[in-house]
Amino acid sequence: MPDPVLRLWNETLADELGGLSNDSALWTGSRTETGMQQHAHRYGGHQFGTWVGQLGDGRALSLGHVEGACGWTEVQLKGAGRTPYSRQGDGRAVLRSSLREYLCSEAMHHLRVPTSRALSLCTTGESVPRDMFYDGRPAMEQGAIVARTAPSFLRFGSFQILASDGDDVALRGLIAHVIEAHEPDVTMEGGSDAAIVHWLTLVAQRTARMVSGWMQHGFVHGVMNTDNMSIHGVTIDYGPFGWLEAHDPTWTPNTTDLPGRRYRFAAQPSIAAWNLARLLDAVAPVMQDASRLERVMAAFSSSYGQARNVAWAERLGLRTWTEGDEGLVREFQHVLHEHQMDGVRTMRTMADGATTVVDLIKGDCIYGPTSGLGTLEAWMHAWLERCSGAPDTETMQRRVPVFRVRNWVLQLAIDAAEAGDWSKAEALSQRLKHPFDHRPEDENAWWSGPRPAWAMTRPGCSMLSCSS
Ligand code: AMP
Ligand code: MG
Repeated sequence: MPDPVLRLWNETLADELGGLSNDSALWTGSRTETGMQQHAHRYGGHQFGTWVGQLGDGRALSLGHVEGACGWTEVQLKGAGRTPYSRQGDGRAVLRSSLREYLCSEAMHHLRVPTSRALSLCTTGESVPRDMFYDGRPAMEQGAIVARTAPSFLRFGSFQILASDGDDVALRGLIAHVIEAHEPDVTMEGGSDAAIVHWLTLVAQRTARMVSGWMQHGFVHGVMNTDNMSIHGVTIDYGPFGWLEAHDPTWTPNTTDLPGRRYRFAAQPSIAAWNLARLLDAVAPVMQDASRLERVMAAFSSSYGQARNVAWAERLGLRTWTEGDEGLVREFQHVLHEHQMDGVRTMRTMADGATTVVDLIKGDCIYGPTSGLGTLEAWMHAWLERCSGAPDTETMQRRVPVFRVRNWVLQLAIDAAEAGDWSKAEALSQRLKHPFDHRPEDENAWWSGPRPAWAMTRPGCSMLSCSS
């Protein structure tokens, strides 16, 4: 790279991984170290519901893995250049998408949602052409590279491509590798079917917990193709993602997804299940009795249902979940949608003591008109009654964040960084470490408050494309 400059560095993660050096040459692929095993990985995928065959790491370059306090961890550069799987792409990434990935993945980690993590962000000194709106008018943007980590970057599509090749030997080999390297609890005794079902049940449970975390925080991934689904149930491939502000179950941040809204907020759990079923299709050929895979789908549904109900009970301060609470939740979602309310902000305002509609108006929870709020008032009454007038606000405060890196907040940090000022990005990278706490620096901060009007129409805030 012509001019690699380290802009963000995750010291804590570097220490957890055994004390990695913060040399920008390393994290832009300009220098290698003994023991690195650079490779690009081949995978396939279903994109928007259609099998598209081979994809692969078109712009990610793995450096191999480190074994530190967190076990086996793969380190990967995103945007380091062309690979055998780049197709027409340039293998590069730009500053705006790299900063979004770095800050959002770290924010997810601190919200306790399973995710890949960011180790570094370097600008490269290269100019990269990007046609942001797919309108034939590419503009030059600053190149950047994020070094990111996960147990591995194997995806559902990693198994699908081998099944599509009919290569049972490689498929068995990859399954055995994942179990051996990553799954100490799965024993191969009792035959390979039992081990595979055990492993896939863990994948299903983790995927369910991950998606439940997305739903709790109003995160919309935007591109839940099977090539973007981690085999470890961690959020990967941050692209045109977004965070719900005014509640809308049909919202998708991804312009490419607009025609069918396949990856809209409310569809994410069922899409995860559909993706999981494609993984099971891929693994079935190496099993003696593939009907045993049915219990994996059942594990997904029950894990998701359980995680969801616990999360609602905690975030509404109900203490325990009972069957009857389903109606309270359904009505809450209805009210949020009807009055264009920010669900997370509303629950946090309630956690901090709001008991009336006026409190919610004062807390800037409502984007719609602040008159005619009868259904909201009725719901607040029902909620307080359910909690016997005393919601468990302590638990609510531990579960509903004060701080989220919403798209417009990221955009302000991007605008500044593109102009050479990294102080906003640095400030966010610190603030996001304490999402559940009120902090003194929030007072009148540029990231506080409801969504500003300009963010409704500004590209990068309201809508994003895959082109990054
Ligand atoms: P994504 O939607 O970002 O997960 O990417 C889908 C596929 O396109 C993956 O195989 C990527 O590696 C590939 N891809 C995306 N951007 C580029 C790029 N600039 N150069 C090469 N390949 C890319
Ligand atoms: Mg991807």
